[in-house]
Amino acid sequence: MDNNHNSRYEWNTPKNNLLNCNTDGNINNINKDELGKSAISCTKFNHFLRFLDILHKNLNKDSAVEEISKVGNEEIRAFKVLISTVLSARTKDETTSEVSKRLFKRIKNIDDLVTINQSELEKHIYPVGFYKTKAKHLKELAKIVKNDYNGKIPNRLEDLIKLPGVGRKTANLVITLAFDDYGICVDTHVHRICNRWEYVDTENPNETEAELRKKLPKKYWKIINNLLVVYGREVCSPIPKCDKCFDEIKEICPYYKKLRYFSEILNKYNFRKVSKNNIPNEKGTYILKIKLNNSKNITFGKNKTERFKKGYYFYVGSAMGNSNNLKNRIGRHLRDDKKMHWHIDYLLKHGNIKEIYISNKPVESEVSKDLIKMINFVEGFGSSDCKCKSHLFYLKP
Ligand code: SF4
Repeated sequence: MDNNHNSRYEWNTPKNNLLNCNTDGNINNINKDELGKSAISCTKFNHFLRFLDILHKNLNKDSAVEEISKVGNEEIRAFKVLISTVLSARTKDETTSEVSKRLFKRIKNIDDLVTINQSELEKHIYPVGFYKTKAKHLKELAKIVKNDYNGKIPNRLEDLIKLPGVGRKTANLVITLAFDDYGICVDTHVHRICNRWEYVDTENPNETEAELRKKLPKKYWKIINNLLVVYGREVCSPIPKCDKCFDEIKEICPYYKKLRYFSEILNKYNFRKVSKNNIPNEKGTYILKIKLNNSKNITFGKNKTERFKKGYYFYVGSAMGNSNNLKNRIGRHLRDDKKMHWHIDYLLKHGNIKEIYISNKPVESEVSKDLIKMINFVEGFGSSDCKCKSHLFYLKP
């Protein structure tokens, strides 16, 4: 396996960093340096390091910006990493790579960026996403670097994040890839995967970066972005391609365990997927998969307010009563003018039904009790008339 991409990073199998866990997953040898101040289960900590180790050994590809950062002295690397990371936001890796190569033939340093005409710059960076805004930011940024930093890209996070179009993600990448200093670049892939692995429990990349700074041993800071960006783009994507994932990873991935458990429950109770337009006039149990695009505080029931995090919710409902069938019960959930009668109506005001599963068996309570064993739930939601703790289950995005 070509591990050229990793040669710039010092790497040992994480044996020395692994914690000594009890059989119940708690820590025997508490190591404050390694764990930081935040509590995390010992097993999760070790599994995450194993996950990084497996990726490090098996991936043979680098992200576009990582590739770009491999040549040149510190000054050239800083210039190229900064520009190409600004270009990479909301853009495919292949496009970033192609456009950067083309652009760096025309502009070699900050002076070139100061003098190039904005409309010519736009032409060079098309088709990256938001190319007009990015061209404007690059022009402004070049002037500031020229005037305030003597034409040299600053090497401090605090200075970098003041530049137009530069957020913490870009600044951290410049720090690590150009100046070989300690930073943690958290983009959408790093944020998503760290949450799926339950290494952090956060709502946005900035929170994830702060948590990783507390929990992740420093030797993994520089490399984590490259590993997770490549894997997040190709395998552990927003809709994960678990069938393409390494077997040794699947064995320990908490997210995969939940997905697999959920499909086992669907099989156990003979659920089948139906479309919104094809719900039968039959009695039975149903599960709605609801997507919430942004975290929200939602009040439901008798003024109970909960924070509903962005992600997927699974609502288990029943259409077994005399005047009920699946078609009219689910039909009421799908209507825009809901009567705000059930707890679920309050969630559906903000989220969208993505999938519907139905079973002809009267198994609402059994399904809920099974899901509670493995999947996070919202206490008391939709379960006032049965002995279940909840009928609403949560899975991170
Ligand atoms: S098993 Fe699935 S969820 Fe887990 S890391 Fe692999 S792709 Fe991601």
